[in-house]
Amino acid sequence: MSVLEDTKILLGELISFPTVSSDSNLDMIKHLADRLSACGVEVEIWHNETGTKANLFATLGPKRDGGIVLSGHSDVVPVTDQDWSSDPFKMEERGGKWYGRGTCDMKGFIAAAVAMAPNYAQLDLQRPVHFAFTYDEEVGCFGARALADTLREKDINPAVAIIGEPTSMRIIEGHKGCYEYTTHFIGLEGHGSGPDRGVNAVEYAVRYVSKLLELKMDLQQRAPANSRFEPPWTTINTGALVGGVAHNVIPGKARVEWEMRPVQKSDADYVKDELHKFCAHKLIPAMQAVHPDAAIETEVIGEVDGLEPMDDNKARDLVMELTGANGTDVVPFGTEAGIFQDLGMSVVVCGPGSIEQAHKPDEYVSEDQMAQCLDMLGRLSAKLI
Ligand SMILES: [Zn+2]
Repeated sequence: MSVLEDTKILLGELISFPTVSSDSNLDMIKHLADRLSACGVEVEIWHNETGTKANLFATLGPKRDGGIVLSGHSDVVPVTDQDWSSDPFKMEERGGKWYGRGTCDMKGFIAAAVAMAPNYAQLDLQRPVHFAFTYDEEVGCFGARALADTLREKDINPAVAIIGEPTSMRIIEGHKGCYEYTTHFIGLEGHGSGPDRGVNAVEYAVRYVSKLLELKMDLQQRAPANSRFEPPWTTINTGALVGGVAHNVIPGKARVEWEMRPVQKSDADYVKDELHKFCAHKLIPAMQAVHPDAAIETEVIGEVDGLEPMDDNKARDLVMELTGANGTDVVPFGTEAGIFQDLGMSVVVCGPGSIEQAHKPDEYVSEDQMAQCLDMLGRLSAKLI
């Protein structure tokens, strides 16, 4: 059987596990673990706290640093309210396209990587190749974060990571991060006729939003030279400001829902730092002078790191050589790549299928894309020996 046929069968099996992020991924992880173990890969399964989900981390070759990670997330988005032409959890081929939830985002890459494992296993590997399959990417990259913690604990230090999100096999060396917050203002209610006896949470929220606007302008000045992002700087958006009950009541509660999309981690640190200083030195003392229990609390909804383009990127150089590509891109969507970059690896995103089909009804990956992916993974063999 050709590796393409083998990949197709395996992908069909993976699609039949409905690993929507709200549900367990354990059955699929076990299936992958069995496949990998059967060809001599050393597999580790690392569960989450509740034991309902797991990351898989597996290694072929010598136990040493400097390996190459092939990574993908095992979870998929729901199919609720989507009009599919066929059962989303039963892969179906129509006209050279393989349909099913997760075919392009991103079980296609996982199937290709695992189908290649027996080929890698036959080589006299000088450099380790790792398989890293995570949970909960679609809801905030929680699995990848846990995986990163475990790699740190165990002192496992691969050098290069290829994240197989659907890029139509283009090489992506950058995307912005996405940090989302809800900032709560707890003031003191009172009658509108005596504003000094209350702490007006809405007014403090407005001052906070003004600070966000100021920072938004600063960030434009901080845009890295030659930034390829659109727009080239870190952005901030105030998505909602909620608070208050009526004209004559001092509002005791308000909240601001906002996000920033950093082009570089230093911008995110800058914004957080400035906000912290602004609240700690200006807003909170003024609020607490009237009411000691007044407070500002920022709830982290999600902090997904960006993939920061680097001049020196071994993953990019490697994958350019493997695919023969003569250029790279940046993309507007987020991935787990930044978490791997944060571990000190060089990282690219490159995988089969198009983001256009991801999350949509009749999601598919084309056979041609899968063949290109297998071609890349095949050429990788020469870099492992
Ligand atoms: Zn994805």
